[in-house]
Amino acid sequence: MKIKELLASAASVLMPRNCSVCGKPLDSDEHYLCRSCLMDIPRTHYEDINFNPFDQLMAGKVPIERCAGYFFYQKNDPYASILHDIKYHNMPTMGRWLAERAAQDMLPSHFFDGIDAIVPVPLHYTKLASRGYNQSQYLAQGIARAINAPVIKAIKAVREHSTQTHKDAAERLLNTQGMYAASRRHCRDLDSKHLLIVDDVVTTGSTLLACATALKDAIPGVKLSLFTLAVAQLD
Ligand SMILES: [Zn+2]
Repeated sequence: MKIKELLASAASVLMPRNCSVCGKPLDSDEHYLCRSCLMDIPRTHYEDINFNPFDQLMAGKVPIERCAGYFFYQKNDPYASILHDIKYHNMPTMGRWLAERAAQDMLPSHFFDGIDAIVPVPLHYTKLASRGYNQSQYLAQGIARAINAPVIKAIKAVREHSTQTHKDAAERLLNTQGMYAASRRHCRDLDSKHLLIVDDVVTTGSTLLACATALKDAIPGVKLSLFTLAVAQLD
């Protein structure tokens, strides 16, 4: 047994690893989710659907090449815990792992073909300081591993925003206006490149729209696509 494996098994005795979705203890070869929860993940398969609901959400606003999200998110669904763990429970590495798997899973659809770089939705520095990490940055890293493209911090959050949770679509749109700007330093040489903006979840699309607008304003020739780990099902 290698030292790394020895340490991992010692750690799992001290701190049992459990499936993020069902809570069952994980086998030594399972990571973050058990095999059966991973297999049953409520996939959207949006990457295989022309003008899918995510495309429709963004249509007529900023020109976007294509949009996809990996799985459906519902507030009280057991799979919601994935997003909570990634975002609030200090488990961003699960996000990186799942995003890499998602991208690998989606490779046959050609969704990622022609993507030159991956751009995470940024966190304002005050939020970054309190959370300690940006979950979208980890998701971007996971996709980068799968499709072999660089991660570029081309967008910066210039204004802090109040929580979006209890806002409707119009309020969210207003709330995100002027929140993001292209990072001049990172946007050089991106004209005519195809960038993939990455976030954890899409709900009304207002955050992604604000990010896409910021990039389009700064780099008019840029092509943009959008990927989120989850797609909120609104009811
Ligand atoms: Zn499970």
